[in-house]
Amino acid sequence: MSAETSASSSTSETSAGLRSGQLADAAGVNPQTLRYYERRGLLPEPERTLGGHRVYPPDAVALLRVIKAAQRLGFSLDEVAELLEAGRHHHGRDSGGLQARAAAKLAEIDARIADLQVIRAALVEAVDAGCDDLTACATSDCCPLPFTELAIEERRARRA
Ligand SMILES: [Zn+2]
Repeated sequence: MSAETSASSSTSETSAGLRSGQLADAAGVNPQTLRYYERRGLLPEPERTLGGHRVYPPDAVALLRVIKAAQRLGFSLDEVAELLEAGRHHHGRDSGGLQARAAAKLAEIDARIADLQVIRAALVEAVDAGCDDLTACATSDCCPLPFTELAIEERRARRA
């Protein structure tokens, strides 16, 4: 309850290990994320101190950076788990799995970019047309927003 207790006993000189808070800080995630990754099997269950605190190996920082970077590249946590798994069993000519998945992710992202460009074009038109009321727009013939169809590009081509 007080500050007295923390100063006592082993202030844990866990030589090479990191406490949850230290690891979370070092990797730039919050401590709940560590538990979450642990439950999802991304982060190995850590050892415990006598007091029951989790102690992570120093290389857990690098692992967390890998997980975060992969997420940033658009991989879901399930996909990250599979990539890590493939990497662990990666020997000889076995694939680490990244090539194929990165190529698939690239195609997925290209499709999303194309879709976003369609959406962007529609929004530009809506802004240019002064659209200000979705309900009114929905019944207006000259509104560029595609209420009845998704064929925005077709409409734009017709208008151009
Ligand atoms: Zn409109």
